[in-house]
Amino acid sequence: MRGSVVHTPDAPSAADATGLGRLPSERVRAWRLQVLAALLAQGGSVLLMVGVVALGHADAMAVTVWAPLSMLFSAGVWLALARGWTAHLRDPALTAPQIVWSIGSAVVCYALAGPLRLLAVPMACLALVFSIFALPARQVQHITVATLLAFGVVMAVLAQLQPHRYPPVEELLVFGLLLFSIPPIALLAGRLSELRARLGQQRRELAEALARIQELAVRDELTGLFNRRHMHDVLKQAQARAWRGRPFAVALLDIDHFKLVNDRHGHAVGDEVLRLFANVASHSVRSEDTVGRWGGEEFVVVFDDAQADAVAALAERLRQRVAAAQLPLADGSALSFTVSIGLVMHRPGELPEATLERADQLLYQAKARGRDRLEAQATMS
Ligand code: GH3
Ligand code: MG
Ligand code: MG
Repeated sequence: MRGSVVHTPDAPSAADATGLGRLPSERVRAWRLQVLAALLAQGGSVLLMVGVVALGHADAMAVTVWAPLSMLFSAGVWLALARGWTAHLRDPALTAPQIVWSIGSAVVCYALAGPLRLLAVPMACLALVFSIFALPARQVQHITVATLLAFGVVMAVLAQLQPHRYPPVEELLVFGLLLFSIPPIALLAGRLSELRARLGQQRRELAEALARIQELAVRDELTGLFNRRHMHDVLKQAQARAWRGRPFAVALLDIDHFKLVNDRHGHAVGDEVLRLFANVASHSVRSEDTVGRWGGEEFVVVFDDAQADAVAALAERLRQRVAAAQLPLADGSALSFTVSIGLVMHRPGELPEATLERADQLLYQAKARGRDRLEAQATMS
């Protein structure tokens, strides 16, 4: 039987011109913001280094080479994102490579900035702090270790090559500072990752609960069939499709002498009969048809995309299968029961209530003519 949950895709965004159009627009915005932030941070560090050169502490030539290179990657990612070249990737904003690039750029800055080299430390820290929000904890831990290693190597080389400009004790002190300030970032990343996982779990549980509530709202508890309220929606949808030239048929079904079943065998057996009927009915229709419990021992079937003769045959087969079904009883015997059916085709422009009313009249006729029979509108047979 058809379900009725409709998933609405994200509204089309300005990114539609690129491959990003199929991605949620708020994610695309977040990626753009992220690349813009990286570009600004790189721009800031370039300005800082220009200042350092102006003060005569850094080699102008080296900074001239480093500055455009440092901006190149973020600018490239910006362009790639804008054109949608990276849309097929899991992370179109290339977050991890950008963070590694920024930290690498800060390490180079450290090597170039002479006595002002400590300025490079907050640059690297900024990129690391950003990584806790953007990357999984394991990746942040790897990047943290790599950052410490990169700074350590550069410090050792500088102290080795120019001990007067970079006294080994000073380098050791700075490395000590890094050793105590950078690892907490990795710890924080772990904590944040736990929080994110818990939030994700809660969101999944909430979604499951919502799906369950939605399911309960449309189902009949006893038989598991759709309930009357949902069948009204199904009829409205069928009517809307009928406007577009897709005809449908409606059958009302009522179990015969059901009161006798209850009286003779008890209410519990009556419930079992209703369940068995539901099972037989839902297995006797096509996947595009919908079976619902209309109330008590009355049921409704909406035959979608219906051709009169075909649905009459389907309804007749359903009736025969119900008559053939047997419910085993506690005393070893088996209980049979029958159903009467009124079947009509929806008429163009007709309200579903009117279609149901005509089906009900035919059901009444089936009862009057002896039960266990199908009464279909004249044009159907
Ligand atoms: P007819 O052939 O004319 O349809 O006769 P009937 O006995 O089937 O119809 P009637 O309307 O006289 O009785 C319907 C019975 O269905 C009465 C009611 O107690 C019983 N019924 C309604 N809902 C349930 C249910 O959920 N479980 C059980 N066990 N019985 C139910
Ligand atoms: Mg009835
Ligand atoms: Mg009945």
